Amino acid sequence: MNVENKHIVVAGAARSGVAVAKLLKRKGAIPFVTDFGSINPNFVKQLEAESIEFEQNQHSEKAMNGDFLVLSPGVPTSSKIAQHYLNSGKDVFSEIEVASWFNKSPVVAVTGSNGKTTVANWLAHTWKVANQKHLLAGNIGTAFSDHIDETANDVDVLLEVSSFQLDHIDRFKPDVSIILNITEDHLDRYQNDFKLYAKSKLRITENQDDSNWFIYNDDDPVLSDHAEELSKKERAPRLLAFSSNKEISNGAFVREGELILKINNKEEQLMQIGEIGLSGKHNLQNGMATALAARASEIKNEFIRESLRTFEGVEHRLEEVRILKGVRYVNDSKATNINAVWYALDSFNMPVVLILGGRDKGNDWSFLEDQIREKVHTIVAIGEARAAIKNQLGKVVPNYMEADTLKKAVKLSKKKAKRGEVVLLSPACSSFDMFENYEHRGNEFKQAVLDL
Ligand code: ADP
Repeated sequence: MNVENKHIVVAGAARSGVAVAKLLKRKGAIPFVTDFGSINPNFVKQLEAESIEFEQNQHSEKAMNGDFLVLSPGVPTSSKIAQHYLNSGKDVFSEIEVASWFNKSPVVAVTGSNGKTTVANWLAHTWKVANQKHLLAGNIGTAFSDHIDETANDVDVLLEVSSFQLDHIDRFKPDVSIILNITEDHLDRYQNDFKLYAKSKLRITENQDDSNWFIYNDDDPVLSDHAEELSKKERAPRLLAFSSNKEISNGAFVREGELILKINNKEEQLMQIGEIGLSGKHNLQNGMATALAARASEIKNEFIRESLRTFEGVEHRLEEVRILKGVRYVNDSKATNINAVWYALDSFNMPVVLILGGRDKGNDWSFLEDQIREKVHTIVAIGEARAAIKNQLGKVVPNYMEADTLKKAVKLSKKKAKRGEVVLLSPACSSFDMFENYEHRGNEFKQAVLDL
């Protein structure tokens, strides 16, 4: 794609918007960055340093007249500016799409409703153990565009991809794509239609062919249906499935406590699942996805085994904070939807005091009822979601309590938890009613636990 001298408008001046504007400038385009809100001073500095024109608190006439639009993941497709371009018949691309035009590396791309960051980091850990050159990019840390100049044939890009990035791809074609699961999240950005959200995630395979791989969770009905559809295609990508509850004809599964890889009809016993460093069924799935992606990238089993044994997980995802008087305190602040909380509860086989709440995304709390009846004796609810939680789960537990700060919630939890039990922050909500973001919430929780 030749972008030289093109007038390209980038909507949204955060991490990926600024990164793609800088990349476009390096490639000879004339980028113009526009943001409807105010731009963080750090990004203003970067744009000024590169002599990239920008505006804030508006979308001026100039912003509406680019050759095409690059839409940051934070700016919805329903926004006035995106709709203006789409209605004028002009292209709208995402940042990973633009970056991929200039990319020279093989790409392993992971998406899903939950587990993306965990798997992206687990991939990076595996590549590190195998001493294989790689770049970790995307939704985490650094934007793909920032790494483009380092891409090369022998350096793999490990990319975390959100559905918002996939909404505006055109030619993006990962060598290996992974979809971990598709469950309800972000439906506000998809007209409250699960099908539209799922469709967006499935686009990760849109341009793949038989030189590529698609790795998917066969326990997820949306994904198994998609794989079946894909397999009917001429030159379909090679499929590798994983399952935590049945045997798979091509992919990864568990038999009698052993993790088995079956590829091209050849079975290999990789390791005992008890040896995997992270606990919980969801992490077994994440580990299987990582192992298959590594195999598709020709990494040897001995390295995969070592990586699965030694990966320690990512902060704020079922992170153990401390054991105090026999009670384990676990920070799962990144659990911002119901499904993540379901898996969090599933990974404990002892009684739990559960801290839930924050800004409700329209959760169907009843999905947690069975897990809560079985394991949770106390719910401590925080934030805006308190009324909804009380209404839907208040009668499911012996003790329902509320707190107006996280610190107080931690203190109440301490009173209720007995030796051998767990106090779990796994809120199923976004944090923006009380905190800057989920990291802030997780850090406050950890501090409150350390102060006990
Ligand atoms: P993402 O980047 O997709 O948001 P994370 O790895 O940050 O995913 O994890 C988000 C939350 O989901 C955490 O609470 C984590 O424990 C949980 N989680 C991780 N992997 C899975 C999975 N495969 N299925 C369900 N929940 C998961």
